[in-house]
Amino acid sequence: MTDTLRVSELFYSIQGESTRAGLPCAFVRLCGCNLRCVYCDSRYTWDEEGRLLRMAEVCSWLERYPGVLAEITGGEPLLQEAVYPLMDALLAQGREVLIETSGSLSIAQVPAAAGVILDIKCPDSGMEERNDWGNIELLRQRKAAGSRDEIKFVLSSEEDAAWAVRIVRQHELNALAPVLFSPVIGKAAPQRLAELILQERLPVRLQLQLHTQIWPGAQRGV
Ligand code: SF4
Repeated sequence: MTDTLRVSELFYSIQGESTRAGLPCAFVRLCGCNLRCVYCDSRYTWDEEGRLLRMAEVCSWLERYPGVLAEITGGEPLLQEAVYPLMDALLAQGREVLIETSGSLSIAQVPAAAGVILDIKCPDSGMEERNDWGNIELLRQRKAAGSRDEIKFVLSSEEDAAWAVRIVRQHELNALAPVLFSPVIGKAAPQRLAELILQERLPVRLQLQLHTQIWPGAQRGV
């Protein structure tokens, strides 16, 4: 198995999404994605070559931030096989590790001690048919093993929100993990989304991307 990663960027910032939002976090963003979401804010990762780094080099960069939450993201980080030993190595450093994935690939090999942030792609992303629904059963098994995963819907419209409400209920996702509803800036109005969540009496979290409020307009490194 290779221990080399194609890295788009390494940066230390504030966690802007997930239930850990607001915490300092060391990010490892990997290159490449198998999806093409309409709203993608990291499309520079799609085709860029990035830097080829050995796992030890990535770990050594992370050692500058001892004990800090680490998040591996992309692109789609599960496309690179070295992501698995990287997660093991970071967990062995004794830190909390998150991995954000599009939900189009199986999470079966992700260590139980790492927290998966699993996107479920809504219709307006253009990628709904790429959802790997088998991941829901895997989330169930991971929860039984003590994992602290999360499920995220990125919503572009009220139609997306209505779809997400239906999926949450149909699969009883709240029983598996915290569920995050995150509006696409400039597309889905947070106020409408808040009203819908209250009206539906759904125990999901409305999430506004914190980093876009702290550093508006910043394209990379946040
Ligand atoms: S899965 Fe993520 S990185 Fe890939 S296209 Fe969609 S939003 Fe962009």
